[in-house]
Amino acid sequence: MDIIGLTIEEAGKRLRSKEISSVELTEAYLSRIDTVDTGDDAISAYLHVARDSALASARAADARIAAGKDLTPLTGIPIGVKDIFSTKDMPTTCASKILEDYTPPYDSTVIAKLKAAGAVIIGKLNMDEFAMGSSTENSAFGKTRNPWNKECVPGGSSGGSAAAVSASTCVASIGTDTGGSIRQPAALCGVVGLKPTYGRVSRYGMIAFASSLDQGGPFTKSVRDAAIMLNVVAGHDPKDSTSLEAPVPNYTEGLDNDKGVKGLKIGIPKEYFIDGIDPEVRASIDKAIEFYKKSGAELIDITLPHTEYAVSVYYLVATAEASSNLARYDGVKFGVRTDSGKGLLDMYKETRTLGFGSEVKRRIMLGTYALSAGYYDAYFRKASQVRALIRKDFEDAFTKCDVILTPTSPTPAFKFGEKLEDPLTMYLSDIFTISCNLAGIPGISIPCGLTEAGLPIGLQLLGRHMDEATILRAAHAFEEAHNFHKEVPAI
Ligand code: GLN
Repeated sequence: MDIIGLTIEEAGKRLRSKEISSVELTEAYLSRIDTVDTGDDAISAYLHVARDSALASARAADARIAAGKDLTPLTGIPIGVKDIFSTKDMPTTCASKILEDYTPPYDSTVIAKLKAAGAVIIGKLNMDEFAMGSSTENSAFGKTRNPWNKECVPGGSSGGSAAAVSASTCVASIGTDTGGSIRQPAALCGVVGLKPTYGRVSRYGMIAFASSLDQGGPFTKSVRDAAIMLNVVAGHDPKDSTSLEAPVPNYTEGLDNDKGVKGLKIGIPKEYFIDGIDPEVRASIDKAIEFYKKSGAELIDITLPHTEYAVSVYYLVATAEASSNLARYDGVKFGVRTDSGKGLLDMYKETRTLGFGSEVKRRIMLGTYALSAGYYDAYFRKASQVRALIRKDFEDAFTKCDVILTPTSPTPAFKFGEKLEDPLTMYLSDIFTISCNLAGIPGISIPCGLTEAGLPIGLQLLGRHMDEATILRAAHAFEEAHNFHKEVPAI
């Protein structure tokens, strides 16, 4: 019996019926990591494999199952974690040299919730340094390959989280999305990626990049699995002042009572169907639109007029917040110190010069500039004002429709090095995902077919503030009718 490649739903059934044990399942995944993730030319999604603690958690999960007590859909399920979530007694590097030897003294809320549900944390996953990037090439610890084509990037910044689910080296994973870092790699690796509403999932213990945009969320093999994960990680957290107090609906129940998409109003924003979209991506999205039309949804042309400013606004707001958040890495409070003994200021300078990679430095400089006394009004304040207009665009659009449909990424996975020389072309990879973060609304990317060359294409569905349920429902209807999510890469 092959127990690799199951969804949370399938693996959970087998665990609870005692057909398999969590120890067996975890061992199978650990040996899968040894075969496809480790060595030259491997996928290399993992920065740290938590072999011993994973097996200990698996034994505890088996005991829980034997006792039939406190069972959740995640009990005994191996889950991978982006290396941005603080994990007690496990290294947390954010893929940066500056945190190379850092082990947090506490668990982030997301990890605490996963553990409380009985999940098995199997390891920490690669990413762009401090989540800055769209290809995972900015990791200080090497590249992660796309399981569909090892010459291609997995997307970013949560590239490891997407590649691990796609390569079945964990059943599901967790990542973060500041401007697209869950949805874009999910699209490029052919898995489901959900960015919840800002504040739906606690940011406590999630290393900060841009605090007004960052949001954690799941990578899974199916839409139902994403709902299962969201049920566990969502909710108010007194330790995160921006987390929302609203009650958490049961997202899987919403799918059980699936009403299909009949009568659902789906908005098609003209600003997202521009020249420059890869023709195969365009064709797949057009087919998806046809599908929804045939299934009884009402397709509505909408406009999000400030879309053209989204990338510029994002690169002012996100860099400004990053410059302030990253000030704490000074060789004193966290992580690595480089000190040639010339005094305090030189120690700061040496630590930050050697500890940060070039993209992180570029953003700290951009952000510091945008916030500086003489330029604040022209840059940061202006960007914040335009951000409000972008948010208003969505509010207006959602008076006319329930869900907005777009491509997730303008292109499928690209080759290593292809966008590395020119940061601006890399930034454009998130052109369709960034506005959602600026507005704070939820978004999901689901598999929408393969190109001729066999690379995955992602479909993005955006929802109203706090209305994850409706995008899950629309995504579920598409998934059930196509089964694109069942296609797996031959590694
Ligand atoms: N690619 C975008 C950036 O580089 C978004 C990253 C993210 O969502 N963390 O900032």
